Amino acid sequence: MTALLVSDLHLDEARPEKLALFLRLLERARACRELYILGDLFQLWLGDDDLRPPHPEILQGLRGLSEVGVRVRVQRGNHDFLMGRGFCRATGARLLPDEARVELAGVPALLMHGDTLCTLDREYQRFRRFTRIRPLQPLFTAMPLAWRLRKAASIRDQAMTRGRNKAPELMDVTREAVAGAMRRHGVRLLVHGHTHLPAVHRFELDGAPARRIVLGDWFGNENVLVCDEGGQRLLPLGEFL
Ligand code: MN
Repeated sequence: MTALLVSDLHLDEARPEKLALFLRLLERARACRELYILGDLFQLWLGDDDLRPPHPEILQGLRGLSEVGVRVRVQRGNHDFLMGRGFCRATGARLLPDEARVELAGVPALLMHGDTLCTLDREYQRFRRFTRIRPLQPLFTAMPLAWRLRKAASIRDQAMTRGRNKAPELMDVTREAVAGAMRRHGVRLLVHGHTHLPAVHRFELDGAPARRIVLGDWFGNENVLVCDEGGQRLLPLGEFL
């Protein structure tokens, strides 16, 4: 019955040691029922034809896990929101909506990447809305991969220049957005990533206890949420492996 949840791996060629960790996690996940990846699996996924190394190895690893019967469920992050049908075909995974209500070993929970909860960062939210305009995505992915890479690099440079001047509170979730999402889905447990601020937050929501579990990033804050009959435990990845 065990479900594993991770987020913000940001895998790319520059950090082979994190790819190795991921492959070890996939081995451990074989004994589980579900693996949830809550976005930013890839540092940059520019469309389902983006097969730059180490992407083929990642796809193959996920496929191996699907083939032994583990349900692999993936959300799109802000670094890999162009994952689509081709990604699913290659991995046997299913893509979840941006707000996914699931049961984690019987406990209702809402899963999100987390970027839509950072509502104070209006500039990012504007950019996000633009990138999600449906007809634009196929136009973008129809361009040559080299062009897309250049475009992504210039967007990243601009975002980094602007990000230097951003107040840290802009980069975190707001209480209102969290409460709103949890009410919409009728849950007392929210799990997300994106902010790279791993923690378990306990609070009251409409007079009842609620929890927000934030998964860490794979830049030194690797962790995994293990859910089974015993409850939910947020463990350092090293301890779990
Ligand atoms: Mn993110």
